[in-house]
Amino acid sequence: MSQCYKRPAHWLQLRQFRKTNMHDVIIIGAGPAGLSTAFWCDELRLDTLVLEQAEQVGGQLHRVYNPIENYLGLKARNGQELLEHFTKDVDSADFDLWTQVDIESVDLKARRISLRSGEDLQSIAIVIAAGVRPRELGVPGEKEFIGKGMIESGARDRQLFAGKDVCVVGGGDAAVENALLLAEVCPTVTLVHRGKKLRARRELAERLQPNNCITVFTESVLTRILGAEEVEGVEIQRKEGLKPFQLAVRGVLIRIGVEPNTQLFRDQIETDEKGFITVNSQQETSVSMVFAVGDVSNPQAPTISSATGAGATAAKVIASRLNAR
Ligand SMILES: Cc1cc2nc3c(=O)[nH]c(=O)nc-3n(C[C@H](O)[C@H](O)[C@H](O)COP(=O)(O)OP(=O)(O)OC[C@H]3O[C@@H](n4cnc5c(N)ncnc54)[C@H](O)[C@@H]3O)c2cc1C
Repeated sequence: MSQCYKRPAHWLQLRQFRKTNMHDVIIIGAGPAGLSTAFWCDELRLDTLVLEQAEQVGGQLHRVYNPIENYLGLKARNGQELLEHFTKDVDSADFDLWTQVDIESVDLKARRISLRSGEDLQSIAIVIAAGVRPRELGVPGEKEFIGKGMIESGARDRQLFAGKDVCVVGGGDAAVENALLLAEVCPTVTLVHRGKKLRARRELAERLQPNNCITVFTESVLTRILGAEEVEGVEIQRKEGLKPFQLAVRGVLIRIGVEPNTQLFRDQIETDEKGFITVNSQQETSVSMVFAVGDVSNPQAPTISSATGAGATAAKVIASRLNAR
């Protein structure tokens, strides 16, 4: 079974050869939302091009190491396995997909996209399916210790950190879930959260209390990750005005939320204060014939189901707009 989805090179060349740079629909991003939009656009016979910046399609599915048990009709051991199901369907669809694309600029009103490789593309509709990325803490050591003690996922990495003291930063579901997972194998887990109360669902937060190896510091911030070659400790500032203290840990996991990938569009389109694109029930944005689907426009309910559903909605609305022309 293939690990990732990529069109065969000869197929891509053939398809690009007979295309002009004008399309009915250009989709930016090939995560679940973008793939679903493309799949539906193909079903509706729209000439569609998908632009993906990564080497592989799938978006966040590559970072899901937990079993996926909440996607109706399909269970998967992890994101990779679900992606394999998606790509079987997408493989038989007839749309263009360019991976490793670097978009230089987008003029949403004119629906024109310029790539750093020199191509200029134009479409009748644009669908933004650019998803989200993990928010960074922005402290010294965070980048320097990637692969040297920074934990990407409790589900994936916990055997690597078994027997070691670790620190988790964040107070939402993801942070608490990861702290609980790590607590199964680590002697101590320190959870650091800047707010007064954890934001995680009650049933998760309640599981923290009887757990002797988890210490929760609220109203606290992690200010530095310490170490020579690898992570050896963290510096924590408890409540403003108090002196920071150092704690010896061998692993740090940061889960402080996500940021939408909207840098390219932000000054052209209506967003909320965090940069998530505002859409109506038809996935339309504030710019005519520009749609947004998936996590990039759905901070309230970012799930695979809502992402794929939004893709179907956008494609159907675009098709009906084009038919009405
Ligand atoms: C650890 C983890 C566990 C999860 N578990 C579950 C679960 O159990 N159930 C569930 O329903 N959901 C789960 N999710 C959430 C789910 O993965 C997301 O809701 C879903 O992937 C959103 O799909 P998307 O297409 O909107 O965005 P993404 O998956 O973020 O995909 C966006 C794509 O756009 C691309 N892109 C971004 N900017 C550009 C650009 N400028 N040009 C071209 N391409 C661009 C990105 O490279 C990416 O491929 C989990 C997420 C994580 C991180």
